[in-house]
Amino acid sequence: MADAHEVLGRLDSDGIEHLWVIFHDYSGRSCTKTVPKDKFADIFKNGVVFARADLDFNLEDHMAPGSMFTADTGDFLAVPDPNSYAVIPYRERTALMYAFMRDDDGAPWEACPRTQLERMVEVYATKGLSVRAAFESEFILFEPTDDGEYRPAATDGMFTVAGLDRHYSLCKLIIESLHGMSVSVEQLGKEYGPGQYEATTHYDEPTKAADDFCTFKEVVRALARDGGWVASFMPKPYVDMPGSGLHVHLSVWDAEGRRELSMGEGEEDPLSPLGRNFLGGLLAHAAALTAIGAPLVNSYKRLLPGTWAPAHICWGIGNRAALVRIPSMSRRRHMEFRSADCACNPFIFLTALMAAGLDGIRSQIEPPPPVDYDVGTITTREEAEARAIEFLPRSLPEALQALEADEVVARALGSMVLSEFLKVKRSELAAYNLHVHPWERKMYLEAI
Ligand code: GLU
Ligand code: MG
Repeated sequence: MADAHEVLGRLDSDGIEHLWVIFHDYSGRSCTKTVPKDKFADIFKNGVVFARADLDFNLEDHMAPGSMFTADTGDFLAVPDPNSYAVIPYRERTALMYAFMRDDDGAPWEACPRTQLERMVEVYATKGLSVRAAFESEFILFEPTDDGEYRPAATDGMFTVAGLDRHYSLCKLIIESLHGMSVSVEQLGKEYGPGQYEATTHYDEPTKAADDFCTFKEVVRALARDGGWVASFMPKPYVDMPGSGLHVHLSVWDAEGRRELSMGEGEEDPLSPLGRNFLGGLLAHAAALTAIGAPLVNSYKRLLPGTWAPAHICWGIGNRAALVRIPSMSRRRHMEFRSADCACNPFIFLTALMAAGLDGIRSQIEPPPPVDYDVGTITTREEAEARAIEFLPRSLPEALQALEADEVVARALGSMVLSEFLKVKRSELAAYNLHVHPWERKMYLEAI
């Protein structure tokens, strides 16, 4: 555990002159101001000032109607977490730190997702438990074309050497930069979609795991940008190409993180009783979790049956069509939640996942039996009913409605995060609904 004094020493010995103090808004965007060297000591005391209303801006940079935070609701202070300090190896004399949003007087603020996640970690600790998480993200490397479109930067096959080798300088630079920033990449490879790559960061405590995902995303985007590419984490950029998901790997441990508690002991038991209940909670709250994890109108164009992205509420062993997968019965056993994409705020998402799992433990929710077939082949309500399986929300409005109705998840997020998240996402939905999309002209302009 680092403290402010120690970080000030490191800033000095690392020769840092610029510090990016970063918070993550409800759309998961990394937002920052850079602070010059002579103000370093000051920001550990007073933080960096941002408008509270920043949290109510959507991805169009428009303020959501009915926002709680407006022009007249003042500021919050972004106070850097000393544990998050990292030198940015590809930017001269620059480092970053992730911040807690604090009240004007420096007190913890309920609208801060990072604070809410740490509160959830404390709730687990009071039960003698903790969670470990790892994020596995997919993204597509594009070359921008002259007509304002994008062309996948590689058409090589799935996990081919050629696909990795084609952009090896970039891939190597990403891994080395991340290692320099204390983010350990487990593996990186060419996924099956055109231009699509995938990497997993090492599992860790929830806040560090979420930080690592945010660092991963920004490092990939920045290094691709520097090289003239666009690295996109959009869930489904093109209808005829695979989508990009964010799979979250989860396990439950004792409070000290010494003993894993969620996996079964015997060869035949994928999960312990506690693990089964945690999984039962994930499935019981799957619709609300998906609203947070897959928060764009575009997300639901990825979550379709038969795409290896989940569309049903179920779990399975080694089953890539299921919402929750136990990757294998070997020692790699853990739970992988597969419906999210990289448009989520990982702090909000992990808080919600942990709340759902804890509800499962508290209420001893038993999951249904695992599915042992390709559930992606189930496309109609009738087939799903015959198999006693429910669909995940099929659209963003459906998902947001489920989130609003989920008291367990709502309580964990707190009223500020939940209400403003819903407003921001619904304002994007309203803009989408007003828009006339190219597909509509193609279909109707001449035909009607
Ligand atoms: N691209 C798929 C998704 O959108 C996942 C493919 C895989 O199993 O890695 O979730
Ligand atoms: Mg993948």
